[in-house]
Amino acid sequence: MSNITQSRLLAELNTILRFSGLLTGEAVKSRAATFWDNSPMRAKALLRPSSVEQLQQCMRLCHAARQVIVPLGGNTSLAEGTAASADDMVLSLERLNQIEQIDTVSQTVTVQAGVVLQALHEALAAQNWVFPVDLGARGSCTLGGMLATNAGGFGVLVHGMMRTQVLGLEVVLADGSLLSSMHGFLKNNSGYDLKQLFIGSEGTLGIITRAILRIKPALAGRASALLGVERFEQVCELLKHLQSGSGLSAFEVMWPSFWRLNTGEYSSHQSPLAGEHNFYVLLECQASSQAAAEAACCSALEAAFNDGLLQDAVIAQSMAEAQSLWAIREAYEAEQKRFKQIWGFDVSLRIADMQRFAQLLEERLKRLSAAIYLSVYGHLADGNLHLILGGNPPLPETHTVEEVVYQCLAEFGGSISAEHGVGLEKKPWLHLTRNANELHWMRQLKQLFDPHGLLNPGKIFDSEPA
Ligand SMILES: Cc1cc2nc3c(=O)[nH]c(=O)nc-3n(C[C@H](O)[C@H](O)[C@H](O)COP(=O)(O)OP(=O)(O)OC[C@H]3O[C@@H](n4cnc5c(N)ncnc54)[C@H](O)[C@@H]3O)c2cc1C
Repeated sequence: MSNITQSRLLAELNTILRFSGLLTGEAVKSRAATFWDNSPMRAKALLRPSSVEQLQQCMRLCHAARQVIVPLGGNTSLAEGTAASADDMVLSLERLNQIEQIDTVSQTVTVQAGVVLQALHEALAAQNWVFPVDLGARGSCTLGGMLATNAGGFGVLVHGMMRTQVLGLEVVLADGSLLSSMHGFLKNNSGYDLKQLFIGSEGTLGIITRAILRIKPALAGRASALLGVERFEQVCELLKHLQSGSGLSAFEVMWPSFWRLNTGEYSSHQSPLAGEHNFYVLLECQASSQAAAEAACCSALEAAFNDGLLQDAVIAQSMAEAQSLWAIREAYEAEQKRFKQIWGFDVSLRIADMQRFAQLLEERLKRLSAAIYLSVYGHLADGNLHLILGGNPPLPETHTVEEVVYQCLAEFGGSISAEHGVGLEKKPWLHLTRNANELHWMRQLKQLFDPHGLLNPGKIFDSEPA
């Protein structure tokens, strides 16, 4: 801390934020620590600027006072990226929540960072447009948080992750200065693409305040189907088959461990397929009309069935039926009811290695503790698996469990984080995914943009190598 005292810093922030923008004490504690954790939020203060100018003034002041800032969006990230200490100040983007412009000629939307994903979906749907990224936390996660973590979700196989959607970005740096790359068009090869540095940087390089994102005309037809498949090779063959001409827009795969848990006695869902299968595929095809989507989906599945690629299938006959299929994929209440301890992992690896990895991991976890249940599912087409490990005590230590999972993954050359970021949680394992040279240049970038280490320090990596 420089020569500005804590009480003066808070008083000056209060003046900038005009009272309701600055929360301290009980008002901070009344907020939940994270989406999953209802314990009180920890922070010296919660700053809630309502304009970029206010945010810049706060950052200038905090920079002068060497005050640590933890950026906060919807708090739905799953890697402790928003964890703060009692000495930190949390900077929430919740009042920067305006959809500034929907430009259907340029096919872009200009948003402030605090816009909640679902609000954007609804505003665009009213004009028959879509933002192509969607994910389970849509009711809470913000565009700023999604950019800061380079979020993925269900449509990545067609549209890419957040990084692909960004045509312009505005960032406030640690010293309060503004870096604007709000250009708004796709092709701009006039030098370095600076905005990409901040996407996926988890609030460690700058505060994302506004963005120009790509939007697409809405397709009126969506057909969803659930398939039962016998062998993993058939799942991969199915993906290839559906990618040629069916309008495939989502391809989610669930292993039987996931399916049994989420359609069994602890779940409110029932399996719409008769019998058990080794793999369950939930897919969606899109087309310009409902009839066209259903026709494309049906004929692709009929051909796949004739080629012996699937054992059973149900095609949703209504929006309600489609929603009930997707509700199984997005469910998490069964694991919460059944297990006292849950560990979640979000990894990526080559599609071809996925089944061998899942089998090997299961064997190793069984050897570690018979009490651990491994549930596997994921965005297979993106090379992304989610692993939910659940159990009831006595259980091994978290570090031991993580070691088994990540060592097994490292043998397949996979990544410890596919879409949720590193935060604090995965930091000890980053060296398994990134080599020493990569980490060196990441630290150099951090030093360049935030030489005093004030922005979300300790997240992703420590400023000095361990
Ligand atoms: C039920 C559920 C399903 C999910 N499904 C998916 C999924 O399919 N795909 C996926 O990718 N993720 C998924 N997630 C994870 C999460 O929703 C995403 O990581 C999301 O992008 C986080 O957005 P947020 O606004 O909640 O960010 P937060 O959790 O608030 O913050 C995330 C990180 O970004 C930083 N940050 C936040 N806002 C800013 C900003 N404006 N500028 C700079 N840094 C900032 C924070 O400091 C933190 O490090 C899921 C989460 C849940 C709870």
